[in-house]
Amino acid sequence: MQEFDVIIVGAGPAGLTAARKLAEGKAKVLCFDKKQEIGVPKRCAEGLGLAWMQRLNLKPDKKWCMQEIHGAALYAPSLKLVEIDFGKVSGYVIERRVFEKELAKQAAEKGALIKTKCNAHSFERKDGKVIVSCTEQGIETKYSAPLIIAADGTESLAARKLGLNTTISINDIDSGYQYEMVNISFDNPQFINLFFGKNVAPRGYCWIFSKGKNHANVGIGIAGPEQETAKHYLDRFVEAHPGLKKGSTIEVNAGTIPVGGFLDDMTADNLLVCGDAAHQVNPIHGGGIGIAMEAASIAAGVALKAISKKDFSQEFLKQYNSIWYEKRGNKLKKLLKQRHMLEELTDENFEVLANTISGSDIMTLTEGDLVDSAKMVTKKLIRHPKLAKVMLKYLR
Ligand SMILES: Cc1cc2nc3c(=O)[nH]c(=O)nc-3n(C[C@H](O)[C@H](O)[C@H](O)COP(=O)(O)OP(=O)(O)OC[C@H]3O[C@@H](n4cnc5c(N)ncnc54)[C@H](O)[C@@H]3O)c2cc1C
Repeated sequence: MQEFDVIIVGAGPAGLTAARKLAEGKAKVLCFDKKQEIGVPKRCAEGLGLAWMQRLNLKPDKKWCMQEIHGAALYAPSLKLVEIDFGKVSGYVIERRVFEKELAKQAAEKGALIKTKCNAHSFERKDGKVIVSCTEQGIETKYSAPLIIAADGTESLAARKLGLNTTISINDIDSGYQYEMVNISFDNPQFINLFFGKNVAPRGYCWIFSKGKNHANVGIGIAGPEQETAKHYLDRFVEAHPGLKKGSTIEVNAGTIPVGGFLDDMTADNLLVCGDAAHQVNPIHGGGIGIAMEAASIAAGVALKAISKKDFSQEFLKQYNSIWYEKRGNKLKKLLKQRHMLEELTDENFEVLANTISGSDIMTLTEGDLVDSAKMVTKKLIRHPKLAKVMLKYLR
């Protein structure tokens, strides 16, 4: 049985980031994935903000940056448009297949061992270590390490098997469905296009993220239990858009997004959890690539300290919780409140908003500065009394 300092279950953005950082710190690290190919299938609309890339020291690379994003186009149910235009590049639609392979290559070059088609199915604590049993290309294998990083996505088996309660309420999980489409036409290819409305995407939205000329990820995320499936709503959306309905589909993706409740405690003895496995995503739009990578980097930092102190107890590892909450978690908690408000909006509320507030007003509201938000809202309320009903939901 091969022994490592750290075993990372899951080679998505979180696992691969942790693997690179641990290898850079000279740890002996194994990171593996049950998929046979890193990054495939993608289960993602592939939007990544420039601010995240800067925070994570990722230089935009033509190999995986497919389309510049300059802002967002938000459509109310009547298709009334509100534009958030940054007037410059604010992110990219990436090719995750290439991006993740690049992350894997960087981690391997630093000394991490990466494996694919390796499915972890059981975990046993023994003599201060964890023995991980896997089915690897059809063969049963075992690896051991004093520390496991669970980066195995929403369905995380590793965290559950090692004693963390990762249960998530059905109301706190979005169902996503997506077609990668070609030979289509749509407005605003340099914007991420989001479509709202009860009949379009209940408690969620449809999206069109361009990947180049006549090519886009066209998808939907809806919250909680609905009478119809996400696919049903997406098919209806595609059918209703003349530029989409004659297009061809080159990939279908489905996945869940844990939008409503990151774990309070992401540690146990011999265990750190990060990324979707810890439900660390932006609760408003469900984006999680950057957040997962940031959390993985924090987890890897704590893991390196644990290795040098030879202390893998929860008592020691739980500093990861406080660092993450301070850096990101507390901000996400605030956004969670805004999500709950957005979920309460009716189609009529969306129309009022589309007719009264601008893209920059939305930025003011979402940046969370109370004084600026109050000033903006007061001005608008004087001119648009109907806005009061919507703002009451926001303030509640
Ligand atoms: C439809 C949809 C659209 C999205 N769009 C965006 C977007 O545009 N922008 C954005 O930022 N985020 C988006 N997200 C969210 C984003 O995809 C995730 O937040 C991100 O992938 C999280 O990274 P991760 O490494 O934590 O998990 P994942 O990327 O899910 O990686 C986990 C890995 O663990 C592996 N694994 C699981 N179990 C095991 C096991 N037992 N053994 C071995 N390997 C295992 C899986 O195969 C997987 O590769 C979207 C999600 C969905 C579903």
